[in-house]
Amino acid sequence: MTKILAITNQKGGVGKTTTSINLAASLVNAGMRVLLVDLDPQGNTTMGSGVDKRFLDKTIYQVLLGENLVTDVFLATTPGKYDLLPANQELAGAEIEMVGLDKRETRLKDALHPVQASYDFILIDCPPALNLLTINGLCAAHAVMIPMQCEYYALEGLSDLVNTIKRIRTSFNPALKIEGLLRTMFDPRNLLAQQVSDQLQQHFAGKVYQTIIPRNIRLAEAPGFGKPVLYHDRQSKGARAYFALADELLAASR
Ligand code: ADP
Ligand code: MG
Repeated sequence: MTKILAITNQKGGVGKTTTSINLAASLVNAGMRVLLVDLDPQGNTTMGSGVDKRFLDKTIYQVLLGENLVTDVFLATTPGKYDLLPANQELAGAEIEMVGLDKRETRLKDALHPVQASYDFILIDCPPALNLLTINGLCAAHAVMIPMQCEYYALEGLSDLVNTIKRIRTSFNPALKIEGLLRTMFDPRNLLAQQVSDQLQQHFAGKVYQTIIPRNIRLAEAPGFGKPVLYHDRQSKGARAYFALADELLAASR
């Protein structure tokens, strides 16, 4: 069965895009068929997958507005070999244009439905906001993965996200689960990071991935080459961490 995961946190810069790209590539490396959906107008997932967002005439924008099908728009990318539903700046307009449309919260879910069976995993990289685009991501998903940096305000932002997830459950998607919280850019020498990590495990017992993504320069460099880290430096700590995350996810999905 296909598993659809929304990678969400309304904070920017916590590692959503890095996780989306590298988890997608690691799942492909483990033999899975993966579609990666870029739901952020910044198009970082698109660029980081080696696709130049400036030269796309069709993106997820047309899909959300009902002008094109996913099959008209998706790209089979070479590095990583996952399929990509790309985005660019145009998507920012969809936020406003969708408001007047029918079923505005479930447009992504409905668009993915016909292609869903072709994939083992669909990963949705959400924008850094709790807006209509993110709501579309949460309505389309079976579960949410929340990347977070273990710093002072991290837990505070989480309660807004958890409340949004509860509202989505009530109104649109009763089965939506929190799949797990992922500690990213982790520096074990940082005492505060350790403390926040401990608090996280107390508050969200059983929901925190065992895999920890360390701060690793190779992970930050790879998007500049338009590649997942495993094609940039397969032996790096970053690459190994995302292999481990894919294994953990696969073990839990069995
Ligand atoms: P988001 O999508 O949540 O805004 P990104 O994945 O784009 O976050 O990450 C923000 C910045 O931090 C990017 O420049 C990215 O390359 C860098 N980054 C993300 N994860 C790591 C990591 N584990 N180690 C080092 N740099 C990272
Ligand atoms: Mg991002």
